[in-house]
Amino acid sequence: MTEAIIDDLRGFQVYDSRGWPTLAVELSLVSGQAALAIVPAGASTGSREARELRDGGVVHSGRGVTRAVEAIRDTIRPRLLGLDASQQERVDHTLLALDGTDNKSRLGSNTILGVSLAAARAAAQEHHRPLYRYWSDGADLLLPTPQFNVINGGLHSDSAIPVQEFLIIPGGASSFAEAMRMGTEVYHALGSRLARAGHRTAVGDEGGYAPRIEDETQVFDLILSSMEDAGLSAGQDIAIGVDVAANSIRERNGYRWRREYLTADALIDRYIGWIRQYPIVSIEDGLAEDDWAGWQLLTALLGERCQIVGDDIFVTQMPYVGRGIAERSANAVLVKLNQVGTVTETREVIRAARNAGWNMVVSHRSGETTDTSIADFAIAVGASQIKAGAPARGERLAKYNRLLLIEAHDKGLGFAGWSWRHSTTPSTD
Ligand code: PGA
Ligand code: ZN
Repeated sequence: MTEAIIDDLRGFQVYDSRGWPTLAVELSLVSGQAALAIVPAGASTGSREARELRDGGVVHSGRGVTRAVEAIRDTIRPRLLGLDASQQERVDHTLLALDGTDNKSRLGSNTILGVSLAAARAAAQEHHRPLYRYWSDGADLLLPTPQFNVINGGLHSDSAIPVQEFLIIPGGASSFAEAMRMGTEVYHALGSRLARAGHRTAVGDEGGYAPRIEDETQVFDLILSSMEDAGLSAGQDIAIGVDVAANSIRERNGYRWRREYLTADALIDRYIGWIRQYPIVSIEDGLAEDDWAGWQLLTALLGERCQIVGDDIFVTQMPYVGRGIAERSANAVLVKLNQVGTVTETREVIRAARNAGWNMVVSHRSGETTDTSIADFAIAVGASQIKAGAPARGERLAKYNRLLLIEAHDKGLGFAGWSWRHSTTPSTD
């Protein structure tokens, strides 16, 4: 195999879709190949996510990344020059050893991920392979089914809806292009409906509308009607998902749902009510990251009928995903590379999830850039779904358009569709 010897490495402070500083990493090879990776950032983060390195102080409200740029120059660059970028594990383990902490607090998960991704990109280029093929382990490749976030609540907008994300999932499409058509048509129909009903149609951080509607059943009704407007059959062509992001409504041992205080049991009852009434096929972070007992109950009660996705509870890290598998806390994992830091560690989580028969949803962050690595990653690791926001805002479309172009160019790929719904039952061995 050709070697991809690292010749230079440099970090830059750039900006994300919310206008906050973020890190770009340029990595060049002796051959002259050069690659760029830009790191995303979350807003509703899990408390156990690996730590970003930020400057602190008053400039940029402390969110500058000049220390990350310096860490690359002074600490990482001297150790990586001369290494082969195609040896991803070696590169990543070098980064982990240089960091030496268990939560990446020395170099920062942003710094480590930027370098890890830039190395992968450069190596793929050196081997003249598109990133998704370079990263794949030879299994049949599928284009993931998109989860479009069409209504933004929670911490992603000022809409006052406790649920952070209302997702539409066009699993009945026969191709990624058709899924895009379905998703965009429902998105536009929803915008028209909101406007006609006198709601504002401004969008939140992930491109979904952020109307001031308090009652989630009204939102579900609007989404269903918009599916009809688009001529689609709800539950067959396209279905609904939610990301409750329940960390943000956690209060003492229960949950704050607008003016009500709910126990985990009462909140799960509410979800059961939704599922009876609406074609909801996926619930992400229905409970908070520390409510392991609640997760177990939720999965026992709904796991046969619904995808139960863990984001903040697992933070794409092996000990938590391992515990979740052992305790049957969920049947799917949300995969965010920057929650853990390296490509190698993320792949470990993916291997464990796949062995357990879990679904995988590769995800963007609410603070994004035009970097499209997650589109390639989702295909390469066999994730059945990708969550990259509404079909609106350039940083969201960058991922979806990347997938469209891959589909157009590479006829060897199928489309995941609803395939994941057959494996939503947790294994009982
Ligand atoms: P975040 O939100 O990027 O703000 O963490 C996304 C999610 O909760 O899935
Ligand atoms: Zn989430």
